[in-house]
Amino acid sequence: MDFAHLPHPAPVPGETRQQALLNPGFGTLFTDHMVVIDYDADKGGWHQATLGPREAISLDPAAAVLHYAQEIFEGMKAYKREDGSLALFRPEQNARRFNESARRMAMPELPEDLFLESIRQLVAKDRDWVPGDPDGSLYLRPFMFASEAFLGVRPARQYKYILIASPVGPYFKGGAKPVKIWVSRNYTRAAPGGTGAAKTGGNYAASLVPQAEGIENGCDQVVFLDAVEKKWVEELGGMNLFFVFDDGTVITPPLTGTILPGITRDSLIQLLREEGLQVREEPYSIDQWRADATQGRLLETMACGTAAVVTPVGTVLGPDGEFTIGSGGIGQMTNKIRERLVGIQKGTVDDSHGWTLRLD
Ligand SMILES: *Cc1c(COP(=O)(O)O)cnc(C)c1O
Repeated sequence: MDFAHLPHPAPVPGETRQQALLNPGFGTLFTDHMVVIDYDADKGGWHQATLGPREAISLDPAAAVLHYAQEIFEGMKAYKREDGSLALFRPEQNARRFNESARRMAMPELPEDLFLESIRQLVAKDRDWVPGDPDGSLYLRPFMFASEAFLGVRPARQYKYILIASPVGPYFKGGAKPVKIWVSRNYTRAAPGGTGAAKTGGNYAASLVPQAEGIENGCDQVVFLDAVEKKWVEELGGMNLFFVFDDGTVITPPLTGTILPGITRDSLIQLLREEGLQVREEPYSIDQWRADATQGRLLETMACGTAAVVTPVGTVLGPDGEFTIGSGGIGQMTNKIRERLVGIQKGTVDDSHGWTLRLD
């Protein structure tokens, strides 16, 4: 499919952009352009791809997404390397997962080539927006939603795929600071048979109240337990978890449909195994977590995802009070694996897996 390039009447002046890039924050600054691709089941599916100015979109008030939340998204980063080239990290995995989410939400799949081409085109166009700062990157947000105007409950026949980009600094300011986690007892994130494995907005909407509860209790993030027994540790609102023990084993909760299959998670499983650790995907209970941390058997807990990469969990606040992981700081393995992953992404560590895709 050819992308029609629409001229931008007034891109942000270079000096203003440079100024903004000095302190981009996370998710508040946007580049000049966006990609839009339309889908209509009655017009042969995907048609009309444009790369044009980033601007407000007009939507019929009856658009299905506004009523029944038929929506999915992805998150990935473009990195600037020391030699000035740009690279993506395992973008084909995002393309694949986007379609897995689409299937769960009864939405049309977007050909993976088209997904990847949209990324290439936008990053090439807005190349000057990629922060040069070693902690910075260009966060890419592809998403798709039901745009058909109707109030009946059925899968829509019209959709929009849009790709926007946001220059970002580190997700947590000050680097890999240990986070304090709130164990949500009143709320769950995903039930068996639900949408927990799909990257869909509704999962996030449901996490906002427990997240606010966590913040009221002095925590940074929420950890969700399974919806059936309220016993098994699943994941944070947007990050997967790894538990590192003193006998060289590591546990991460298994992908049973209620956990988002993180690409960082998958990468860490491989990297940890290469460090000689025995990684097991198996259920881990909140009571065991507390007991293992208290007895010193558990050395580290790390949270991982594209946005924050690898972040140590320092303290956990549950219904039975607080417990600390290790010394409460960043653990050795967390630090090592974080450096290794960031190094691969930035091109300073050998990419023996072929995970990075150079863009230029
Ligand atoms: C996106 C996401 C993650 C992390 O996935 P990555 O591919 O590693 O960025 C973890 N949990 C949830 C709920 C997510 O939405």
